Amino acid sequence: MKNIEEIKKEILNCRKCPLYKTRINPVVGEGSLQTEIMFIGEAPGANEDRTGQPFCGAAGKILDELLESARIKREEIYISNILKCRPPGNRSPRVEEIKACTSYLEEQIALIKPKVICTLGNFATAFIFKKFGLDNKLQGISKIHGQVFAAGDLFTQVKIVPLYHPAVVAYNINMKETLKKDFQRLISL
Ligand code: URA
Repeated sequence: MKNIEEIKKEILNCRKCPLYKTRINPVVGEGSLQTEIMFIGEAPGANEDRTGQPFCGAAGKILDELLESARIKREEIYISNILKCRPPGNRSPRVEEIKACTSYLEEQIALIKPKVICTLGNFATAFIFKKFGLDNKLQGISKIHGQVFAAGDLFTQVKIVPLYHPAVVAYNINMKETLKKDFQRLISL
């Protein structure tokens, strides 16, 4: 298995999809490798592209507030994304980009072995549900947000919690309470 430095080096040099041409910095992911909880977002935005850090812009501010409301310390979790490079103009990730990029995320998951994976938004939820054989449970995030799905095999069990992407709060402030409620569920996992 690759260690995090090897994974990081590959991501920083990655040219597997055309996004390398327009990125400033790939965003590898950040946090504790010893964590039991991993959060998976969609893709870097402008601030993340500039700094190389995940969730450091407007959506990150909301994520920080939600984590705090659930008494989760950001430095104690690991945060990564489906795509490591910013899609121009923050458009949605494309199927070919997801295919090209997600082996990195899979390596990060294999290394960290989280007990709980929180997926932020539809793209992360769809990828993780498929990866863990939950295809038949997959629905849009508005239907399954805040629910806990058990997955894995006899040896490694993982709880998957689909959550709305924090950026939805920027469009609809009322969503903050829904997100806070969903984050509260993490306290008892
Ligand atoms: N949105 C995401 O999905 N990921 C980030 O890192 C930042 C914003």
